[in-house]
Amino acid sequence: MAKTRANRRTLDFYTVKSINKTVRAGDCVLMRPSESSKPSYVARVETIESDSRGGNVRVRVRWYYRPEESIGGRRQFHGSKELFLSDHYDTQSADTIEGKCTVHTFKSYTKLDAVGNEDFFCRFEYNSSTGAFNPDRVAVYCKCEMPYNPDDLMVQCEGCSDWFHPTCIDMTPEEAKRLDHFFCQNCSSEDQKKLQNSHATSRLSDTKVESKRRRR
Ligand SMILES: [Zn+2]
Ligand SMILES: [Zn+2]
Repeated sequence: MAKTRANRRTLDFYTVKSINKTVRAGDCVLMRPSESSKPSYVARVETIESDSRGGNVRVRVRWYYRPEESIGGRRQFHGSKELFLSDHYDTQSADTIEGKCTVHTFKSYTKLDAVGNEDFFCRFEYNSSTGAFNPDRVAVYCKCEMPYNPDDLMVQCEGCSDWFHPTCIDMTPEEAKRLDHFFCQNCSSEDQKKLQNSHATSRLSDTKVESKRRRR
């Protein structure tokens, strides 16, 4: 073991010839899955090493898990591009890298104007042996008290600032998109009166209906 390590060199970067892309430690990459029918694996490159002559390049990676690969499976609030940063490390041949990708923070992902194939987001770390998440709690919204799924349209109440799914408030998404103002049931009587008396305030003239993210 010690002998193998001593003979290996750490590289600052490596160019994967098949895709003509340069990979560095810290980059997020797509890796060829064991079965071609499966989606690419997503990993973060921790280190890049070669043998003493610069050949046999291997990457030490930290895997991202897709929700369906987690013990608890995919939940309703998981976004289609959601990944969990796992505690599962591996060493792979650098030539199994088949592309680069970006794993955004949740916040920056929700601010993207368009989501490309190579855009993902991560809001949880995942313990692959226990199935536990960190953080183990996230903010919940709406009457259904669900964490936010960035794929779903939500409307914001101008009274309490909570966000709601149109279907949870008996509205179609189309109706929700047409709203100029929205007050939830709890806030409606009081605040609508206030709005009628002061409809010129700038805060209330903004439309608060957002899809938060447009999909391609
Ligand atoms: Zn809801
Ligand atoms: Zn409200």
